[in-house]
Amino acid sequence: MPSCAAARPGVCPCCGAAARPLSGPLVVVGHGLVERQVRGPSGPHEPPVQVQVQLRRYRCRACRAVLVVGPQGLLRGRWYGGGAIGLALALYAQGAPSTHVRACTCPSRVVGGSARERWVTLTRWVESARRGELFGGRPYTAGLPRRAVAEQLMLLLAARAGHRLGAALSESAFAGALIAA
Ligand SMILES: [Zn+2]
Repeated sequence: MPSCAAARPGVCPCCGAAARPLSGPLVVVGHGLVERQVRGPSGPHEPPVQVQVQLRRYRCRACRAVLVVGPQGLLRGRWYGGGAIGLALALYAQGAPSTHVRACTCPSRVVGGSARERWVTLTRWVESARRGELFGGRPYTAGLPRRAVAEQLMLLLAARAGHRLGAALSESAFAGALIAA
């Protein structure tokens, strides 16, 4: 894990104040560590896991904002890593049944009765994407089928990763989701 000084942002993203002015005291100061869970595979061909990651917290003395700095690819308010969600949407967009998507994404092997037929987490991601609340996408029309929404977002994410013809869209979507998260 990078040191407090190494991970300190250069400027406060909330008010734009320089974190470490040339003269005077620090403006963005260390404010402890927070731990969070991240679920999902670490790469497009890796098995899904659940890991604990530590995030550095900073406090801006200019605007009092609390900033959290962590590894690339984490989404606020979601248990799963960005790459995992991008991969899941890509697999679903390409026709995989939701049980297969779950097996590739979810570290828990315990499946409840209803989850054998469909995976509600995947549905939630697609519906967030439809509202334009995932990876900074734009909203899609209410009538667009779920797989079509997933396909639109997959193409958007793959493009972010510089997808080239012939490459696997699921791999590009995973990489693009890390950038977009
Ligand atoms: Zn600030």
